[in-house]
Order: sequence, then structure tokens, then C-alpha cells
Amino acid sequence: MIIILLGPPGAGKGTQAKRLEQYYHLAHISTGDILRSAVKNATEIGKKAKPYMDAGELVPDKIIFQLIQDRLSRPDCKNGALFDGFPRNISQAEQLQNLNIIKKDKKKFAILIEVSDQEVINRLSGRLYCPNCHKPYNISNKISKDKLGNYICSQCGEKLKSRADDDIKTISNRLEVYHQHIAPLKDYYNKNSMLKIIDGIGTPDEVFRRILHILEISSS
Ligand code: AMP
Repeated sequence: MIIILLGPPGAGKGTQAKRLEQYYHLAHISTGDILRSAVKNATEIGKKAKPYMDAGELVPDKIIFQLIQDRLSRPDCKNGALFDGFPRNISQAEQLQNLNIIKKDKKKFAILIEVSDQEVINRLSGRLYCPNCHKPYNISNKISKDKLGNYICSQCGEKLKSRADDDIKTISNRLEVYHQHIAPLKDYYNKNSMLKIIDGIGTPDEVFRRILHILEISSS
């Protein structure tokens, strides 16, 4: 099975990807996570990608495709893959469609998780994460604090951080870039009969149930 998760930043793609990965035993391929790790480790790709990521712009397709091909060559992709944050434009979608993993799999879905721009801004401007165990948080929910008033992780006690690109200026640019590309991508996957649209408002469990429902009726 191949699942492509589409949606604006903050739609909950990462959260749903983790659930789908466990449910269907798919390799979870998040280009954003791969790039963030490359930046953290100051690899050649990381150094090239960082300025684009800091500005909320798309990293050039050539870099992304190299990274996707490396990732797909790993053995965990043999049962299928779950793409999170890829493709981001038509050129990436076309490149993906030409790969064997897509050509040979009959069950393939592009799931668009829809949420409004205002919801994206509310979610991302309050988003925090644990740099140690990666648990996500949002300041609109109750979060534990240490003696100095810093937000800390309920799982491992680490001080929480916000993502470098979750400041309001970069969020606005990421949204603009998203809107530039999503209409043609929707059209592309609609023509390929792969597109499924899901309402992204609700708890992670509710959204997950909607996705499973759509996948199960479409697979039967
Ligand atoms: P994400 O975690 O998916 O929101 O991605 C964070 C940032 O990484 C984006 O704002 C882009 O700068 C970059 N990025 C992630 N995936 C892609 C992709 N498929 N194509 C181009 N840039 C990407």
C-alpha cells in the first residue's frame, strides 16, 4: 500500500502518519524530518536545505528527490510507504509516479487533510515538541512546567522547544507556498483517482477514524 499525506503545515500529517505507520506497517517517509535531521547533523544536504527551510520555502526538487531515492532503497519500504510532506509540487508528484514502488502497487491513496489557515496559525504558533523523545505539545493544552516556569515534557522531563520555522512570518510563508501548489496537486491526484479528502478538525483519534474509514471503503 502507498499512502501520500497532503495538507497544510500543522494539519496533523505527522500525527496521523505515526498511527497509519503502525496500523498498516508501512515505512514512514517524512521529508521534513529527514531534512531537519540533516540540518542538525550539518550534512551537505542539511547545509544546502537550511536557508530554504528557515524561510519557509521549498527545498529544491533535486535535493528532495535524491533523499527520497536513498530512503526508498531501504528494506523497510518493501511493504509499501507512507509519504508525509512529499510530494509538495507537481514536479515531485510526477517523479514519484515514475518510481517502481508506485507503479507496482495497486492500493495507492493521496489523503488530503483539510484545515483552515486560521486553524493552522493557531496550531503552529502554539506548537512545541520535546527535543529528546519528540512528543508533540500545544500551549493551548495543559503542559507541566519546571520551577523556572519552562514547559517540560511529561514523558522524559526535557525542556520543550518550538520548531525554528514555527514563527509567525515563516508560518505565513509556508501557508502561501502551500496554497500555490495544492490546487494543481489536488487536480493531479483526482485525475489519477487517488484523491481522498478528510476534515482535519477534531481530535487525532477522530481524524484517524475518518482516514481509516475512507481507506477501508476504498480498499474493499
Ligand atoms: P514539514 O516538516 O513537512 O512542514 O517541512 C518543513 C520544511 O522542510 C518545509 O517548509 C520545506 O522547507 C522543507 N520540505 C519538507 N518537505 C519538502 C518537500 N517535499 N519539498 C521541498 N521542501 C520540503
